[in-house]
Amino acid sequence: MQESKGLQRVLKYLWRAWRLQCPRCGTRSLYRRGLAMHERCRYCNLKFEREQGYFLGAMYLNYGFTVMIVLAGYFTLEILANVSLSLHLWLWTSISLLLPVLLYRHSRALWLCMDYCINPVDDANARAYEES
Ligand SMILES: [Zn+2]
Repeated sequence: MQESKGLQRVLKYLWRAWRLQCPRCGTRSLYRRGLAMHERCRYCNLKFEREQGYFLGAMYLNYGFTVMIVLAGYFTLEILANVSLSLHLWLWTSISLLLPVLLYRHSRALWLCMDYCINPVDDANARAYEES
């Protein structure tokens, strides 16, 4: 019973990260527009960047996702199709430059939700939002 509650909690945070929602209250308040992130949640006042360099871990996540996708794509294409080396270089260089930009928002949201899941900020507002 305890394990399923823990798993449900982790899945809830992963779902919120996927939907770019605040990890505490679940509202869509992470980003203003484009890549600009709000400093705090407009609803529960959770501070997103807890300290300077907080999102460095998100950069590692982003890099890891990019490398995994590029390697999986390269080997899949190599096995399934006879593609020239120059096409591989152009394709995977382009994708490895584009993917970090596309994954930027989700990697930050995932980092924030992972950190909140492991180390939730405990203040007066937190419990009220966690209950819901
Ligand atoms: Zn919030």
